[in-house]
Amino acid sequence: MIVIYKKEFFLIFSIFIIGMSALCGCISSKGPFFDMSRLENCHPLMPVAIIGSGPAGLTASIYGARGGFRTYVFEGNKPGGLLTETTEVENWPGEAVILGPELMQRMHAQAERLGVVFVADSVEAIDLSTWPYKLQLDSGDSVYALSIIMATGSTPRKLGIRGEEEYWGYGVTTCAVCDAPFRKGQKVIVIGGGDSAIEEAIQLAPHAQEVTIMVRKDHMRAAQRMQDRLSGYPNITIKYNVDVLEVLGEQKKGPLGLIKHVVGVRVYDNKHNVEYDMPDINGVFLAIGHTPNSQLVEGSIQCDRAGYIKTEDHSQKTSQEGVFVAGDVADHVYRQAITSAGSGCMAALDAANFLGNIGFNEQIAENIMPFLYHPDGMGESSVYHIYSLQELEQILAHSDGLVVIDFYGQACPSCLQMLPIYEQVAHEFKDRITFIKVDIDEAEDVVHHFNVVKVPCIVLMKDGKPLNHIYKTMRRKELVDLLHASDRL
Ligand code: NDP
Repeated sequence: MIVIYKKEFFLIFSIFIIGMSALCGCISSKGPFFDMSRLENCHPLMPVAIIGSGPAGLTASIYGARGGFRTYVFEGNKPGGLLTETTEVENWPGEAVILGPELMQRMHAQAERLGVVFVADSVEAIDLSTWPYKLQLDSGDSVYALSIIMATGSTPRKLGIRGEEEYWGYGVTTCAVCDAPFRKGQKVIVIGGGDSAIEEAIQLAPHAQEVTIMVRKDHMRAAQRMQDRLSGYPNITIKYNVDVLEVLGEQKKGPLGLIKHVVGVRVYDNKHNVEYDMPDINGVFLAIGHTPNSQLVEGSIQCDRAGYIKTEDHSQKTSQEGVFVAGDVADHVYRQAITSAGSGCMAALDAANFLGNIGFNEQIAENIMPFLYHPDGMGESSVYHIYSLQELEQILAHSDGLVVIDFYGQACPSCLQMLPIYEQVAHEFKDRITFIKVDIDEAEDVVHHFNVVKVPCIVLMKDGKPLNHIYKTMRRKELVDLLHASDRL
């Protein structure tokens, strides 16, 4: 029945679209590339697909939805973007002071209220050779987009020094908001001289015993107002003219594999030309700038030498018609939440203009309704939320095979970013694997039982015994691969 209905619909739809296209002249004026009659063969469809959910992506989505377009946001690996790792924002107009995560939550709620569809998935590849543009998703699905807004932001840089990779997640990190509570009473360093270095140090100060900011020049690049904030924290000091050469650590075998931790750093004093070790340092926080996340369009859209996507004139248009850009992935100068939001607004207006120019109108929007993308309705959660060891034991008594436990904290942005991915994967594997989540502040006995030392942490169990602790934020694909590998054991 459904097949017959669809065929009939397609026939009527095709005749209608061809008629509309001819009427509005989109085929003749723009050539066959933006050919509306192709929409019938390309679904699921997204009129406006925004990749990235920071201030740029969410502002674009608000403008897209208010413009009357069905607008989708791919939340990616870091929903809410880098602002979710910031504390106080004092330069968002209209807010004297607001916390970064709160600002992003408000934007998300505003977008949702306007009908924006959030997709807890990442885009793996984009095919711009034909239109509608094809997006390959992390989940394995493909979708087709009539217009794309790249709002993929930038990623914190690493130093590339010895020990950095080895102790990554075991004391070396870029996220103080996530890891500061695990550095209670310890000595830590923050590397960098920009606003982020100050942010990281301020996050760490209430937890750590001593925080030293390591600046490679004889001055900081950070705004004076940010530097002034440091005076309120007596346990933060600054070392100038220092390059960190190596992260020093220790490793030993534990019941669940190698236990590693940072014990110091080797430093070069570039003013006096001497090398020395700083002992008893247990945390190394990097705040040395960012790299634009333009890899998805590398080679198909013009970027500058540093990888920032180029825009045309005073617009957010890229070198590919129908693809727009907003935020830090195109901006190496201003890089502020407010400029990202502004460019998100411009990108959405440019996208709306483009869609109008190629003949996309209300009638076509209505006709493609049955072919729009619908993220899997997950319905009821497939994850047990437990509050005690006793509850865990009850679940384990009835579970064969693999059991996965996600330990998270409400104050940990990476954990909150991973939760929707975890829920989605749990939904897919619910028939084979048991999924549990534990809020570390609600079930301390479970945390101690598994000796969890930081979050996010995934513990895998088989036959009632822990197999592995994984201390990192995982992308959907990584989590799925891990489950496949562990399920086969
Ligand atoms: P920046 O690019 O501003 O600063 C990077 C810092 O890292 C610089 O001090 C740089 O040194 C240093 N650095 C770079 N490479 C190395 C290296 N290999 N070894 C040692 N040090 C290195 O990046 P931020 O992330 O701090 O800021 C990015 C943007 O975000 C800025 O526009 C900033 O204003 C904004 N921001 C705003 C905040 C707020 O308003 N609350 C909070 C955080 C960021 P050098 O100076 O010598 O080049």
